[in-house]
Amino acid sequence: MNTITVIGAGTMGNGIAHVFAQNGFKVYLVDMNALILEKALTTITKNLDRMVLKASITEDKKRETLANLIMETEILKAAPLSDLVVEAASENFIIKEKIFRQLDEICPASTILASNTSSISITKIGACTKRPEKVIGMHFMNPVPVMKLVEIIRGYATDNLTTKTIMDLSIQLGKIPVEVNDYPGFVANRILMPMINESIYTLFEGVAGVYEIDTVMKLGMAHPMGPLQLADFIGLDVCLAILNVLHDGMGQPKYAPCPLLVNMVTAGFLGVKTGEGFYKYTAGNRDLIVSERFLK
Ligand code: NAD
Repeated sequence: MNTITVIGAGTMGNGIAHVFAQNGFKVYLVDMNALILEKALTTITKNLDRMVLKASITEDKKRETLANLIMETEILKAAPLSDLVVEAASENFIIKEKIFRQLDEICPASTILASNTSSISITKIGACTKRPEKVIGMHFMNPVPVMKLVEIIRGYATDNLTTKTIMDLSIQLGKIPVEVNDYPGFVANRILMPMINESIYTLFEGVAGVYEIDTVMKLGMAHPMGPLQLADFIGLDVCLAILNVLHDGMGQPKYAPCPLLVNMVTAGFLGVKTGEGFYKYTAGNRDLIVSERFLK
């Protein structure tokens, strides 16, 4: 494998493109929004600068990584030239369906089509194509250059060769792949999202404040980040989308998203990416400041 296309240059796509490029792959990073592509290149450059400062990579490696990256707004100009496509577009089945149908038409029969989806069924995505045996979940964790885990999701029709290729490739990227089966939320979000939802319910019902909930979980359970801060970091829209998939797929009320989460997403308070969620984020300030909406 030499050439990879990553579709979607948001929170996850830029990190995925970074990791492939740093490991010597030629990477097309595709987003329909040219501004997001610009922002992604700035983020990747900043992250590489930080790695050079920490001496975890050399200045030459940084240059080599950036030279491996090509920014593109059109899928058609990138995907047909790639051995693997990793889709990291918004967590919405309609969007992913359209992308996979197009990929299936324009990519050579040998191209593996992977999705970084957090929760949408790989079997359902594979069924939109004529190559479901070559469709697989490659679920990277945020921030991608730092986090070791890749959850590899085998759809019902995914074949052994595709699974082995993607497991081996993940190791080549310096990651630790874990193979799981295709059920709502897979493993990571089946367990994480109910905890995040419960923490939002705990806030909603007035049991405790934002700072208190996160501090209990950080100090009491040795979590590096409280669940509300983590939700802001993931994106509240992404959390809501995953909970809806769990709720629809499992049909159990315990997965119903908290009305406070629904309200925040409707109002556009999505966490770090919009500057406010449970906390308020301002450029250059690394202190955690609880949003005044949650202060008594
Ligand atoms: P995001 O909203 O930050 O980025 C999505 C990007 O996709 C946007 O820049 C958008 O312009 C682009 N896009 C949408 N439709 C497109 C199309 N048709 N063609 C090209 N680009 C298109 O979302 P994100 O948080 O990076 O999530 C991306 C995927 O990764 C989702 O499936 C999500 O569930 C998954 N994921 C997210 C996290 C997380 O922590 N945010 C972690 C693991 C997996």
